[in-house]
Amino acid sequence: MIVLKFGGTSVGDVGRVREAAAIVEGQPRPPVAVVSAVGGVTNLLLEAARAAGARDAARAETVSALVRERHLGVAAGIGDDEERMAALAELDQLHAALEDALADVLTAGELTHRDSDRIVATGEKAMSVLMAATLRARGTPAVHVFADRVIATDGRHGAARPDRPRTRQQAQAVICPMLEAGLTVVVTGFIGGAPDGATTTLGRGGSDYTATLLGAALDADEVQIWTDVPGVLSADPRQVPDARVVAQISYDEAQELAHFGAKVLHPRTIRPAVARNIPVRILSTFAPRQPGTLVTREEEVPGGEGLKAVTALRGLLLLAVDVPELEDLAGASAKVFGVLAEDGIEVLSVSQASSRRRMTYLVDAGAHGGCARVGSRLAGALDGADFEVEVACTQDVAVVAAVGAGAAARPATLSRVLDVLAGANVPVLSASQQESNVALVAAVPAADVDRAVRALHDAFIRSHAANARNRRPRRQELLAESVRVG
Ligand code: ADP
Ligand code: ASP
Ligand code: MG
Repeated sequence: MIVLKFGGTSVGDVGRVREAAAIVEGQPRPPVAVVSAVGGVTNLLLEAARAAGARDAARAETVSALVRERHLGVAAGIGDDEERMAALAELDQLHAALEDALADVLTAGELTHRDSDRIVATGEKAMSVLMAATLRARGTPAVHVFADRVIATDGRHGAARPDRPRTRQQAQAVICPMLEAGLTVVVTGFIGGAPDGATTTLGRGGSDYTATLLGAALDADEVQIWTDVPGVLSADPRQVPDARVVAQISYDEAQELAHFGAKVLHPRTIRPAVARNIPVRILSTFAPRQPGTLVTREEEVPGGEGLKAVTALRGLLLLAVDVPELEDLAGASAKVFGVLAEDGIEVLSVSQASSRRRMTYLVDAGAHGGCARVGSRLAGALDGADFEVEVACTQDVAVVAAVGAGAAARPATLSRVLDVLAGANVPVLSASQQESNVALVAAVPAADVDRAVRALHDAFIRSHAANARNRRPRRQELLAESVRVG
């Protein structure tokens, strides 16, 4: 059994939904198809929710009307009258529930994370209804399932954490009988259910994570992430237009890439696949015959000598904590981590120069008020401590990560990375070789990050590929050679 996941662009309009349906139907056995909201709809729903929170009823109504329109546009392509009418009736219910939720927020005059999740889930729910109806209209027996009854999570709205054992139980109870009955099961991406029954979301881009969670819960043979690029590329194509497809990467490498900003995979996507050793393939709905990228266990990835990809992540803070006395380091670290955990701030990397008793933390604090707030929270927490400590915070920081197990493990690569960055006039705020030896990470000013990515890509990936091309004899040369020999 295979789990296929279709992102927003891949179900962005009638034509795309049709293409996605054809891919689903091309599977040898009925699969599970995880669907995102129609491209752009999640942003619209969030905009409507925020407008309602700001008591802007007119804006909330205008934007929710746009959402309705996008859904009705896709429904128009359902090629069977009965199926279309039934889908329209279900969409009516979802849109009515959306209006109710927006009305509640308007009345309250504030938007809670809980209400936001309830509102934004409309996008995936509508798409699951539309995709299942499209499949049935084409003669493929299919049902839709809302994942708030399958993916069990905690109650952290907006970034809920899944409860894997309960998810496995629920997925097997709900989905297995459907598959056994020969049905294709269309499941909403992105959403889950809290212990109190409320709908949660897994964080932006979370449908990828839904796919591997379900893959693991159902012991799938493979998870396929169908998207709008032909695989994991050697860099973000918006930064490096001639980035190339990486044919094969390990779980570790994929995890580092996703962690350090490759939007093609939600940062948590790989973990569930690792646990059950499920291959993950990234494929393009625009070029469905291309092989894409295969993500498997390290031992199965051949070669791996060069760096494979360069990624970047913006919106970070760099915290530097100076502790003059060595014996105070552990206590100071505990306090810093305590504050970061309390505020739900994700730590991307930590390094320590013990000779200077300095610890640096790269943290993702985009949504946490920047240095003004994080710096003063830390200073406050450390103020009462009975040791000396100084905190400095740098804003507008980005990281570039160069990923590739073979190369990243060699000490010489880090010095070359630093050379290349220096050659491109990119100041390096901190640099570290990850313990996993899969990624080299440098913190740089956000303003320089595009230049940094391009320089690293040029030096390590483009030139590497060009050398390989030059080494490979061309066909004419081979023919000439064989003539001479003959
Ligand atoms: P989906 O809606 O299918 O989930 P996303 O927009 O979330 O698609 O992710 C795909 C996008 O990720 C691509 O269109 C591309 O712009 C971006 N991206 C960033 N880095 C990479 C990378 N290294 N490889 C491929 N795509 C990348
Ligand atoms: N629709 C959600 C988002 O835009 C989830 C996803 O597409 O993966 O974030
Ligand atoms: Mg995505």
